Amino acid sequence: MIDLLDRLARVAGNDRNALGLNPVQWEALRFFARANRFSRNPSGLRQYLGVTKGTVSQTIIALENKGLLKKVPDPRDRRGVEVRLTAAGKKLLVDDPLNRWRADLSALPAAERRSLEGALEGLLKAALNNRERQPFGFCRDCVHFSKHHEAGEPHFCALLEAPLSNDDSQLICREQTPA
Ligand code: SF4
Repeated sequence: MIDLLDRLARVAGNDRNALGLNPVQWEALRFFARANRFSRNPSGLRQYLGVTKGTVSQTIIALENKGLLKKVPDPRDRRGVEVRLTAAGKKLLVDDPLNRWRADLSALPAAERRSLEGALEGLLKAALNNRERQPFGFCRDCVHFSKHHEAGEPHFCALLEAPLSNDDSQLICREQTPA
């Protein structure tokens, strides 16, 4: 099984240098597209990828220089920044090399796909847990997520005491604790 995963990772690796971005730059672009406002910052990316501060800062600078990311002041932290995709960054993601994998996966029977997804999710969770790393799961699946909460519009985060939109609920978060 692990040999299969290793081979799959190698095949995926062959697809990972595309359209002028290296693999870490692609991962960063995907992360900033999927992360919520509490997580789309340099330290969120560092936690997510498990890489050094230097790698994160070089990666963000390279993507800014390519016009794919921009930094804006973080409204919740005077010294912090939020990192967002530019229109060009969003456009490039449409040609994400991982789309080839999405197409291969969608060719599998639905039941097989669901069972594969469940197994891989479980394996990833265990691997991250054993390494004391954050899962970065979906907001909607978090223990702190309060659906249609009276104090939120329309949802609410009980941990960060912040309202959450429907779009927020579909994003990943560094503080997520599986329900
Ligand atoms: S509900 Fe959980 S995942 Fe969502 S913002 Fe709050 S801590 Fe993050």
